[in-house]
Amino acid sequence: MTIDNFNFAGKKAIVRVDFNVPLDENGKITDDTRIRGALPTLKKILADGGSLIIMSHMGKPKGKVNPKMSLSQIKEAVAAALGAPVEFAEDCAKAADKAAALKPGEVLLLENLRFYPEEEGKPVGIDKEDPAYDAAKKEMKDRQKEFAKTLASYADVYVNDAFGTAHRRHASTAVVADYFDADHKMLGYLMEREVKAVDNILKDIKRPFTAIMGGSKVSTKIGIIENLMDKVDNLILCGGMTYTFAKAMGGNVGQSICETDKLDLALDIMKKAKEKGVNLVLGTDCIAADAFSNDANTQVCSVMDIPEGWEGLDAGPETRKLFADAIEGSKTILWNGPAGVFEFDNFTGGSRAIADAIVKATAEGAFSLVGGGDSVACVNKFGVADKVSYVSTGGGALLEAIEGKVLPGVAAVQA
Ligand code: AMP
Repeated sequence: MTIDNFNFAGKKAIVRVDFNVPLDENGKITDDTRIRGALPTLKKILADGGSLIIMSHMGKPKGKVNPKMSLSQIKEAVAAALGAPVEFAEDCAKAADKAAALKPGEVLLLENLRFYPEEEGKPVGIDKEDPAYDAAKKEMKDRQKEFAKTLASYADVYVNDAFGTAHRRHASTAVVADYFDADHKMLGYLMEREVKAVDNILKDIKRPFTAIMGGSKVSTKIGIIENLMDKVDNLILCGGMTYTFAKAMGGNVGQSICETDKLDLALDIMKKAKEKGVNLVLGTDCIAADAFSNDANTQVCSVMDIPEGWEGLDAGPETRKLFADAIEGSKTILWNGPAGVFEFDNFTGGSRAIADAIVKATAEGAFSLVGGGDSVACVNKFGVADKVSYVSTGGGALLEAIEGKVLPGVAAVQA
């Protein structure tokens, strides 16, 4: 079923959203992007004459009640965004009466799902090495099913609009869907858009396809790098990874971030790129700093020859041009991870050069997808979020989808 084809009039919809919004020390929302992201779905249901049961996690309370992560703190903000009063259920597992009392156009917000260990379905307080672990895991999986069944019992229809957690098989993201038939479960609008954006990258590739992978480490990105190797024409590897490659090629990287146990992996990536005819673009020069600080002294140097006591914190001018040249002629672009320590204003240049080149290519007709927390922070910082084709709300979920993995949260509603 699709959300556009379903008439919610007189129906109760339980909707999994991602309201894991950042709060300040007074419990005030500092960035409401995620709430705004779910509004099209929530408003469609209300406009049809349906009632809403909204559920989400917030933070990592690890199966225990933690008032600092209570969704009651965002109840008023949700009400204001929806333009409707919101009732709150302190106990997700005992909300049947409140759900039953909902009239068309009314809204019930459930407490943080992760106050219940059943949500994640992982046994708590027992070590993986413990001989009793397997039994505890099985017991927790059974409890997870019960919890999901309870959630399902509140509603006639299930909508999943939480892309950020779609790579998890949690009670609210996937297991709950087992209690609805195919005509009564669907993706929300945000999820539909995310899934389509990934499809654009994976299935409908217009060439040349350039992927830009940055961030701090090779080790956390290796799965996606290997997967992309079969798909891309240009692969730009930047950020902290640069120095693992430089070291693997015999360079001196000074104090730069470097995974010395991943040198062989770096050489292997280079070899594979050559075999597959992928144009691997690595940084050649960098902005080296004499301290990990915005105010450090800097010099431009070769990534192969960084003086002792100095560390590469951003891509150098020659590198920026190499990256921009590869990006500007592209028709499909994926960007995940900054080219430098962009949190320091003096080391944003490399990431900015990438963002500018993506904006230019997009204006010339390329499809560009930016995803992962830090690259999203970059496009927001540079004010270009609306000049790329799609900014994904997912970090881990996006990377897993692009690695070619099936997302449990998507599969469960499409089953
Ligand atoms: P990741 O979480 O792996 O995507 O990495 C993002 C982080 O990588 C950001 O916080 C950046 O500051 C950091 N980063 C990027 N380039 C460098 C670098 N040259 N040295 C240290 N950290 C870096």
